[in-house]
Amino acid sequence: MHNIIDNIIEISYFVAAILFIMGLKKMSSPVTARSGIIWAGVGMLVATLITYLHPGMHNYMLMTVAIFVGGVAAWWSGKKVAITDMPQMIALYNGMGGGAAGAIAAVELLKGRAAFDSQTFLVLAILGALIGSVSFSGSLVAFAKLQGWLRRPMRFPGQQIFNIAVFLVAVGFGALLLTQNEFSGTVILIFFVAALAYGLLMALPIGGADMPVVISLFNALTGLAVAFEGFVLNNAAMIIAGTVVGSAGTLLTQLMARAMNRSIGNVLFSSFGASGGDEGDSVEGSMKPIDAADAGIMMAYAERVVIIPGYGMAVAQAQHKVWELATLLIKRGVDVKFAIHPVAGRMPGHMNVLLAEANVPYDLLYDLEEINAAFTQTDVSLVIGANDVVNPTARTNPESPIFGMPILNADQSKNVIVIKRGQGKGFSGVENALFFGDNTRMLYGDGQAMASELIEAVKEL
Ligand code: NDP
Repeated sequence: MHNIIDNIIEISYFVAAILFIMGLKKMSSPVTARSGIIWAGVGMLVATLITYLHPGMHNYMLMTVAIFVGGVAAWWSGKKVAITDMPQMIALYNGMGGGAAGAIAAVELLKGRAAFDSQTFLVLAILGALIGSVSFSGSLVAFAKLQGWLRRPMRFPGQQIFNIAVFLVAVGFGALLLTQNEFSGTVILIFFVAALAYGLLMALPIGGADMPVVISLFNALTGLAVAFEGFVLNNAAMIIAGTVVGSAGTLLTQLMARAMNRSIGNVLFSSFGASGGDEGDSVEGSMKPIDAADAGIMMAYAERVVIIPGYGMAVAQAQHKVWELATLLIKRGVDVKFAIHPVAGRMPGHMNVLLAEANVPYDLLYDLEEINAAFTQTDVSLVIGANDVVNPTARTNPESPIFGMPILNADQSKNVIVIKRGQGKGFSGVENALFFGDNTRMLYGDGQAMASELIEAVKEL
């Protein structure tokens, strides 16, 4: 009987792992992404339910309550969360994954050395605990930053040396465990406290503009921690899912870092984007307003228009109106393109998702490298709710915290119209030189309302 149950468990984990991989594959295209989420979700359900069959399992009541509480909380938050708050939610869920890996290791360590088949499994458990704990507390800081609860990056003199010291304490106490025949509770405690403290300390000085890279780095770390603990528990689903998340997260981290023109080391140790915009931030000139009627005329009589969406378009949910405006212009013979910056919005692919929702054809969307050369021949660039991703300071001012980040060169077009509500800065908190340009006009107002006014203006011509 035991054999049959063991086989069922093994096969179920294998099926769950395949469902995760298939789900991830489907998530790579917007067309199949929704079904991908369902596939992966079913995989997770299989992996969760099969734990009930594990021999020697007890605490069924506690398990059921935990699954119920977790399930309801996730369902509720998933339904309620606005798409603009998605990165915070991802940071939080990601942290939970790291925390779960750390908790598994803690339980195994508290059982004593007998819980580990060999020293290798003990090493993996400790590594997983270290990485998972760092990812847990670091992700909570990332969540607090994205949620706006922690506005200022926290820095103090000698911070990096202090951080390294805390990290070495965690590593040292982890190594000490390896030498002990009977694990000391105090050593376990100090190990976890140091690892959690390191996660906090590592994330606190990192500033706004680098958050996308940091989130995906923690994502990769969580995957790794889960995979390590999967080896300890001999759980195929955890090993495979952890490895997939770890490698996908690593690739995404590299892509995001490249998009920000940063090395990972630079992101972690340079406090880039952490100034809150106080350094190298003064811009000469003034912002010049325009009304929708005049802006509509400029666009309607233009030959080439490039639309640059950013976070504000997502907040205003203006994508449908923007596409309606673009359609009107196209009907008038205007060549309309959409320029998509890789970190526009608050999550990778954010703008692509919104524009796909409004049925904007993919062939009108252009990446940064594809479109940047075209701005000099563009009559009007319409910037809607974008800020950091069009800030020429990143190109021109070495003092600026965002210097070196590749941007869309909207400033090089003949005319620029910027839709935003007021004088608010971008995510990095840096003043935007584009808004002060001689060729720039500010169309103040909510993204959706202004897009509607532009539509009316163009229709009246
Ligand atoms: P920004 O966050 O730099 O700027 C958005 C602008 O939108 C603000 O200046 C704001 O100005 C305006 N805005 C806000 N609400 C509205 C509204 N309802 N209608 C019109 N305008 C509005 O956006 P970008 O997309 O240019 O840049 C993204 C930033 O986010 C980058 O710094 C990136 O590093 C960071 N980031 C990106 C992530 C990703 O994965 N894509 C994840 C986390 C961070 P005002 O208040 O005056 O209206």
